[in-house]
Amino acid sequence: MAIKNIDKLIADINQNKMEKKLGIAEVFGSNVFNDAVMKKMLPKATYAELKKVQAGETTLTLEVANVVAGAMKDWAISRGASHYTHWFQPLTGKTAEKHDSFLSPQADGSAIAEFSGKQLIQGEPDASSFPSGGIRATFEARGYTAWDCTSPAFLKEDAAGDVTFCIPTAFCSYTGEALDKKTPLLRSMEAVSKQAVRVLNALGEKNVKRVTSTVGPEQEYFLIDKKYFDARIDLVSTGRTLFGAASPKGQELEDQYFGAIKDRISKFMKDLDIELWKMGISAKTKHNEVAPAQYEMAPIFSTTNIAADHNQLVMETMQKVALRNGLVCLLYEKPFAGVNGSGKHNNWSLATDMGMNLLEPGHTPHANEIFLTFLSAVLTAVDTHADKLRAGAANPGNDLRLGANEAPPAIISVFLGSFLSQLLDNLTKGKATQSKGQQFLKIGVDTLPALPLDNTDRNRTSPFAFTGNKFEFRMVPSSASIAGPNCVLNTIVAEALDGIAGRLEKSKDVNKEVAAIVKETWTKHSKVVFNGNNYSEEWIKEAEKRGLPNIHSSIEAYAAMNNKDAVRLFEKYNVLSKRELHSRYEVYLEQYVKHINIEARAAILMAKTQYVPAVIQYTGELAEVISKLKEIRSDSSVQESLLAQVSELLKSAQEKLIALEENSAKASGISNIEKKAASYRDTVFPSQVELRKDIDALEQLLPCDLWPVPTYADMLFNF
Ligand code: ADP
Ligand code: MG
Repeated sequence: MAIKNIDKLIADINQNKMEKKLGIAEVFGSNVFNDAVMKKMLPKATYAELKKVQAGETTLTLEVANVVAGAMKDWAISRGASHYTHWFQPLTGKTAEKHDSFLSPQADGSAIAEFSGKQLIQGEPDASSFPSGGIRATFEARGYTAWDCTSPAFLKEDAAGDVTFCIPTAFCSYTGEALDKKTPLLRSMEAVSKQAVRVLNALGEKNVKRVTSTVGPEQEYFLIDKKYFDARIDLVSTGRTLFGAASPKGQELEDQYFGAIKDRISKFMKDLDIELWKMGISAKTKHNEVAPAQYEMAPIFSTTNIAADHNQLVMETMQKVALRNGLVCLLYEKPFAGVNGSGKHNNWSLATDMGMNLLEPGHTPHANEIFLTFLSAVLTAVDTHADKLRAGAANPGNDLRLGANEAPPAIISVFLGSFLSQLLDNLTKGKATQSKGQQFLKIGVDTLPALPLDNTDRNRTSPFAFTGNKFEFRMVPSSASIAGPNCVLNTIVAEALDGIAGRLEKSKDVNKEVAAIVKETWTKHSKVVFNGNNYSEEWIKEAEKRGLPNIHSSIEAYAAMNNKDAVRLFEKYNVLSKRELHSRYEVYLEQYVKHINIEARAAILMAKTQYVPAVIQYTGELAEVISKLKEIRSDSSVQESLLAQVSELLKSAQEKLIALEENSAKASGISNIEKKAASYRDTVFPSQVELRKDIDALEQLLPCDLWPVPTYADMLFNF
């Protein structure tokens, strides 16, 4: 064995020993420039000052930034990093990074490691290649990244061992307009904090200075063998299968959910856990999901902006770790027809700086007063702005999922459970509430009853379910950033809280006012509450009767964030300006168009270069056999009928292929972006679905060795 290999072997053994020795506790957060590291590395005064900045009590000075930057550089270099990057989240929904070396060349030809406060606080990436929806003309392509000091900086390691120091940042234009998903999220957190603090102060909680929105996103995903992925143009270019007949077995045996995890997947999950733990992401639960080859990972919840950063890292790391294991991770909302797609369950709540969860029913009348006030705010917000919440969960992939009997319908409703609904109903009617045989005291209208904690039942079909101490927004698309939906959620709740705060601040009898607010909320907004089966036909009809919006497609949904009411709301709470809202609308419509166009192109390419040639080959073989059989006067009726069947499908497929090409050409020629998107939705997408029908039918007639791409059975069951 060559010396080099022996060295590598010894290094590997040592590495292995080290990993074995390092317990979970040591691994966790080892790549994060976290509070513990800062406490150790920063002078006391700087550390104290930074904490104040993080709490929003003071602004960052260059002096503090210089000291923090120096410590960051020393720590990052000691951990093997040579580069740093301002890490941000443009409107693509992905993350962006440009690596800069810490090295600074000197006059004498040497170089020293340098990282200044200015470099930490602000970066200036060329922004011209990121979507901006017209906010930033390319001639003034400057974009700025600004350090989000409330989300910890971290090290990202790749498989080759390269280490990069990542600084979470917000990304905006020269004029200060948001070009990313992070900036509005941070602004919405401010908005909801401000209004929640007002409400709490009015309710007598005078010490609360800040309220943060918290999120725990459960991430669903698929894993398939890389060799199948590589062999499918549709998966490679769109992330989903555009063709494929259902495999004989799907998910009907219900044997996958929580099933035993296969060794290969288990290895992936372990590798994933370790990578996430290193970056301080508290990956907590992992299990098989409903569809074959589908899985879920849930972290422990955190502050919304950190949760959003972490979720981006989770998606990225899942994809990287999958590749290291010869797998590909599919995050697309509906990668396979006929089996469940993937979503993200966005568990959301509000917590005070004193650690009180505001959606946790309490044991005292005062705690319940707070709970019922915040519950009322959420009900008001969700009912009033259901269309905006729906927009927050819109993307082209989710169009294939919402309302497809596996995910909530495109109608926003709230699940409260029968106990809470009954309680609110009784309160409104002035009746007492019975729970588990226990009579609750009702002393006049100004006292609210004690609530038992374990009284909320479960409903897996609701898009917005109360789960005991938080709301679970279940409509969020699996591949999307969670910044968007949480920005909407925070802002609409801020408005509802603003209204409540105004009333409480003016009121002489706060208790009485709370009771009145709870009653009025129930009277006005209980129409958004639905505890039944959201997948049923009856609900669709019932929701229509109640006047709840049912918004089917993403392009319709986006419009709710670009109308007068959206501008009024988001400008009022300084979350998004009219221009920012409009730019997003344009960007999302453009993305929709590009998305469907790529799908159409991939479908056309596969049909022309893979499916049609395979079918032609088969018809040729059949024709040859038939003529040979005829020569010897043998029966060729089976072959002939098969040939007729296949030829007919081939002809039909060819016609549909031409229609798809024509519709694509027409749609791409439209200049108005709204009309263009509608044309892609109404003509291009349906013609691609039509083409699929024939190709999938052919797949079930052709000899499997002639079929040019891996089948659903291969991809979903072969590991
Ligand atoms: P489920 O309710 O789906 O059975 P869990 O209780 O494990 O599952 O919670 C799911 C997710 O909700 C986890 O990510 C968890 O950390 C998160 N979660 C729990 N409490 C809160 C909270 N107060 N705010 C936000 N997310 C929370
Ligand atoms: Mg859940």
